[in-house]
Amino acid sequence: MASVPEHVLMNEALIEDLQKVAKDTALLQGVLMRTKETPNSSEVVSYAPFTLFPSPVPRSLFEQARQVQTHFNLLVDRISQDAEFLEQALASTIKVDDFTAKLFNIYRQVKQEGCSQHIVLGLNRSDYMLDPGKDGNTSLKQIEINTIAAGLGGLTSRTPDVHRHILKVAGQVEEQKKILDNNPVAGFAEAIAKAWELYGSERAVVMFLVGDVEMIQFDNRFAEYELWSRNIAVIRRRFDDVSKRASLDQNKRLFIDGKEVAIVYFWNGYMPQNYTEQGWEASLMMERSRAVKCPDISTHLAGTKKVQQEVSRPGVLERFFPDDPKAVAQIRATFAGLYSLDMGEEGDRTVAMAIANPDHFVLKPQREGGGNNIYGEDICQVLESVKENSERCAYILMDKIRPQPVRNYLLRSGSPLKLSTCLSELGMFGAYVRQGKGMVLNECTGHLLRTKSDEHSDGGLTAGVAVLDNPLLI
Ligand code: ADP
Ligand code: MG
Repeated sequence: MASVPEHVLMNEALIEDLQKVAKDTALLQGVLMRTKETPNSSEVVSYAPFTLFPSPVPRSLFEQARQVQTHFNLLVDRISQDAEFLEQALASTIKVDDFTAKLFNIYRQVKQEGCSQHIVLGLNRSDYMLDPGKDGNTSLKQIEINTIAAGLGGLTSRTPDVHRHILKVAGQVEEQKKILDNNPVAGFAEAIAKAWELYGSERAVVMFLVGDVEMIQFDNRFAEYELWSRNIAVIRRRFDDVSKRASLDQNKRLFIDGKEVAIVYFWNGYMPQNYTEQGWEASLMMERSRAVKCPDISTHLAGTKKVQQEVSRPGVLERFFPDDPKAVAQIRATFAGLYSLDMGEEGDRTVAMAIANPDHFVLKPQREGGGNNIYGEDICQVLESVKENSERCAYILMDKIRPQPVRNYLLRSGSPLKLSTCLSELGMFGAYVRQGKGMVLNECTGHLLRTKSDEHSDGGLTAGVAVLDNPLLI
């Protein structure tokens, strides 16, 4: 399957020409990324990787993903407020996974002190693959939900025009009309602006907490511009800056370099290697502060893979939506099989099931950012080595989704052009703002389609695997 006819896909001279047109168009539209060689400099940059053609996505499944997003926003937010659930869900994991344990320590400490901010700002992205199913009924299955640093909403907003142009040049004039406009960060900025307004200090800034290596900085520049255009000042600081120069006043207001921070927007802090000892201290200080954290620590924890697995247990969604069976059904319909590896009979059964059929599953540790999951024979190796002890609780097991492959060309700086068999992952961006008990804003703000060659099991754009794409609704 492909989104353009076979004669276009196989026309070598045309493809050669199209790829040149495509790269120039991407550069001119601002679909940009820094290079591996100079990840912290904008002197020489390249196009961010993308597909030559958009990929077909059934309209009904796209709509389903869009419609369930506001329910997922509520779910994440409700989990984040349920201390008993979070404690129980993560109890086995934090005994063996040091990173999650450190996050959980911050959560406990802040909770003991009492929450100093009742404005909650959530910006997330729920990712799906389309499962062709055994009965020929393709269904939407959630891969994960990202509650911290949900990215690519900026860059992807510039890709529809690139694909429209490519399709026009390829003679696919009718097809190009089907490409949707998409600007996820406009909705993100609206939510940030709402939270900033509720914080209530005109001079206070939004602080983007960024990493030391910023290869994909252009992506979050888009959100930054959206905020400046609303006359909200944005500053960018690293953990190190916070630990050296930030402080709290007696009202727990967060200050850095003489500026009051209304919102800390985390673009960093989701991987163990993001933290030094001082970084952990800086993180605790920000969490204790009155600044609105995006995400706050409990929302960060609500996005862990262990929580995802625990939420899939019978009856759990009902706990979070006691009066809304429709929302429960809509959310549950997107769940793939998720299995606990906790000690005990249930976990033993999971181990046996995975070892007997490793190709049917994905083994996931509590990590983000791509490249951490375990597939195929490696699942057996890992499980054989941890199955007798509690180390296995650091993982969860998930059904492997096998989407229908689509043929396409992946354009990546420095890689030769070749026709690839590709798999796509659809993301929906969600934004919400809560003040105390009341939801002030709850929206789906746009989408993301990422596509990779089927030679790769795992994803990740900066990992050099997945590339930007656009859905062509069919
Ligand atoms: P991360 O937090 O690292 O992004 P994910 O759970 O999203 O972790 O997994 C990374 C990638 O691995 C996904 O983008 C997808 O390509 C692949 N993957 C994850 N879970 C599954 C699954 N259940 N079936 C098929 N592929 C999966
Ligand atoms: Mg992911």
